[in-house]
Formats: sequence, structure tokens, C-alpha cells
Amino acid sequence: MRVSRSFLPVLKESPSDAQIVSHKLMLQAGLVRQTAAGIYAWLPIGYRVLRKIEQIVREEQDRAGAGELLMPTLQSADLWRQSGRYDAYGPEMLRITDRHKREMLYGPTNEEMITAIFRDDVKSYRDLPRTLYHIQWKFRDEVRPRFGVMRGREFLMKDAYSFDLDEAGARLSYYTQMLAYLRTFKRLGIQAVPMKAASGPIGGDLSHEFIVLAPTGESEVFYDAAFEEFDWARDSLDYSDEAGLHGLFEQVSTTYAATDETHDEARWADVPQDRRRTGRGIEVGHIFYFGEKYSSSMGLKVSGADGGMVVPHMGSYGIGVSRLVGAIIEASHDDNGIVWPEAVAPWKVGLVTMRGDDAASIAAADDLYARLNAAGVETLYDDRDERGGVKLGSMDLIGLPWQVIIGPRGLAAGNVELKNRRTGEKLELPIDAVVGHLT
Ligand code: ATP
Ligand code: MG
Ligand code: MG
Ligand code: MG
Repeated sequence: MRVSRSFLPVLKESPSDAQIVSHKLMLQAGLVRQTAAGIYAWLPIGYRVLRKIEQIVREEQDRAGAGELLMPTLQSADLWRQSGRYDAYGPEMLRITDRHKREMLYGPTNEEMITAIFRDDVKSYRDLPRTLYHIQWKFRDEVRPRFGVMRGREFLMKDAYSFDLDEAGARLSYYTQMLAYLRTFKRLGIQAVPMKAASGPIGGDLSHEFIVLAPTGESEVFYDAAFEEFDWARDSLDYSDEAGLHGLFEQVSTTYAATDETHDEARWADVPQDRRRTGRGIEVGHIFYFGEKYSSSMGLKVSGADGGMVVPHMGSYGIGVSRLVGAIIEASHDDNGIVWPEAVAPWKVGLVTMRGDDAASIAAADDLYARLNAAGVETLYDDRDERGGVKLGSMDLIGLPWQVIIGPRGLAAGNVELKNRRTGEKLELPIDAVVGHLT
């Protein structure tokens, strides 16, 4: 992408109305713009990041055997009356009336809808177990939308739902999602610790929140340092290995990690002093097992192997895709701006000419840009006739993992500079070696 042809509105000043660093940086680097309280338009940079996160979430759901579908954002109130949640949900639900005076709502979550869809087509035990998911916008009329996309009213969520014939099967589905979550967050380049959670309004008895550590997080957290040291997402564990999945869950449950809501001083006291970690964290995912809550209230049952009817056990599994954009920035930035983990960076490389009026620099940069594109290296090319310092400042702010800087002096010797955004390390190398270095 050439900066001269794109819409990348970078602000000179840090916005004063944002309270936390990720929100400031998202506004300043031009990732989002608020269009109404808690509702955001995703500008090109922000949207690229959002899509990368979404894709990693999708790949890990698919790998864990979940099937993707897409349910609508608008739902009928009648659906929610079947579970009894229409009245129970409260003012966070945005209620809408259509021209025929039918009551509708903008979905804050999809348990009711998926249960109804599954109920209407699945009749036999042979069609279970199944886990289905979608990645769709949700609306919750938060009392205090704040911190930008971190607590928006409209936000993007991946929500998966599992259907099993009994509790043992449902637990296995839960452990499968737990592993998928650990892998997802690892690929996103962040550390998210699974913490025992109170199950809240959805109900049920087994629940974990995945928390990214950040000083601006809304929850206070307490956890064993083992969560930082051990590779929980290890690739050696296969989804078909039931004993391995049970073992993983056992290990997660017996290694202490809790938010202020579930913190247990007695168990905390058993964690060796030097392994106790405390801090603050952001909830980026939440998984629940809630048994027959929706299947029984909504009449989902299938014929069992012995001819009798079976009420499936369900679980639901959410990831805050849009919240993650903010959470990743909270966890990965410095004084100059965002420092994207490579997996979610909007582009891998920023190409900058220090002198946008120097014909030789322009020719060399145009040529390198074409070669990077041909090699499949995602590149943002700042081809504007703007001061070099200004361009470097916005590259740092935008936070791409690599910068290739072309200046007349180096170029005379056939060289350019390659800068690593995270470490700040600079390497002078022949212009012809750049593509090889970045692939
Ligand atoms: P919170 O405690 O932050 O209000 P929640 O517990 O109400 O979140 P869940 O119902 O567990 O949220 O939804 C699953 C995920 O959706 C959350 O873990 C979070 O990542 C994301 N999420 C929830 N509410 C919002 C919001 N208002 N803005 C952005 N993401 C959200
Ligand atoms: Mg909430
Ligand atoms: Mg919560
Ligand atoms: Mg939650």
C-alpha cells in the first residue's frame, strides 16, 4: 500500500480525550474513529489488524474441529422469551421494534439462536458432538462505554457453542476450546492466563476467563508464575488425545490463577512466595459449560442410542476480537507508539524514503516496493514528499515490525537501513539483500 493513495489519518498530537494508552494510540495512529458513544468505524490500518486477529481465531477454531457459520446480528424477542432471558437480560440489551411492531433485538450473544437452529435440524445422537462458531458483531448497551474498543457498545466477538450427549462429552469439548484458546493467544503474540471465573448470568458451574496482563486492566489478578514459564499451548498435544486434554485441564485447574472475583486467600497462601504474581488484567476470552440450561428450556432433545430422548449438554466460548486490538496494544507499545506482534501487524514492513524529492531514492524505493510485493511481503510504502523525520515518526507510531529506510547517502553505496521496531536495532545492508532478509 502506498501512503500517497491510502487513508491513514495520523494525528500530530496525542488525543486528550483518551484515558488509556491503547485508546490514545488507536486514535493517533488512525486505526478507528468513534461515530457514536461506544461505536467505532474501523479505518484501514485498524481493519487490517482486526481481520488478522479474526483469521487467527478462525484458523484455531477450525483446527479444533469447530464449524463456522454466520448468524445475524438482529434477533427476534420471541427467541429470547423461550429461554426466559428476554426479561432477565436488562438494559444492556438494545431492543428494537420493526414496522409491524414486532419486538427485535441486536444480539448481545447467541445461545438462544444457535440452540434453536440446532434444535430444528438435529434429531439423532449420531449428529453429536458438534461445536459451531461464528464471528459476528454484538451490541451491548454498556452503562459506561470507555477505553475505546476495549469496552465498546458494538463489538466483534467470536462465539462458539458445543453440543454433547452428556457431561463427560461436554467437558471434553470445553477442554478442547481451552486448548484452542491457549493456542490462539500464543499465536497472537500475547500472554493470556486462564483464570477460574464465576459463571455469571449465563449460569453453569465450569468457567474460565482468559486474561491479558496490563496495568490498565479492569480486574485485579493473582496467579502462579508457572503460567509464564510453561508452554501450555504445546503443539505436541493433539485434539484426539483425550487423556492429554484432561491432563491439560487438570494442570490449569491446579495451578493458581484467579481474578478478584474468585480469589481464594487460603489457596493463594499455598503458592510459593517467589512464584506469586499479582497485577491487573483485561478479559479477552471467556468459556462456560452450562449443561442443559438452554437445551432444556428451549426443547432441544435428540434420540439416544437406546431409543430414549437425550437433552444435550452445552457450553459457550467467547473471544473479544475487537477488544483484542486494544489489549494487544496495551501489552505491546513503547514511548514512540505501537509495537505490533508480527502475526497481527497491519503490514510487515514500512518502506520510507528520507528524501521524497530525490529521484534516485524514489526509483530505488519503487523498485524495492515492487520486489517486496512480488515476494508476498506486506509493505506500507511511505512515498510522500514529506520530511524524513515526519515519516519515520509516523512509522514508529504505526508500529510495523520492520522499517526499510532509504537515504541518498547510503543509496550511493547501494545500501539501505533495516530497522527492527521492537529492539530499535539498525542494520545497514545492500538494497538487493532486503527481500531475502524479510522472507
Ligand atoms: P466484561 O466483563 O468486560 O463486561 P463480559 O464478561 O460481559 O465482559 P462475555 O459475555 O464473557 O463478556 O463475552 C465474551 C468476550 O467478549 C469477553 O471476554 C470480552 O473479550 C468481549 N466483550 C464483552 N463485552 C465487550 C465490550 N463491551 N466491548 C468489547 N468486547 C467485549
Ligand atoms: Mg459485560
Ligand atoms: Mg466479565
Ligand atoms: Mg465474561
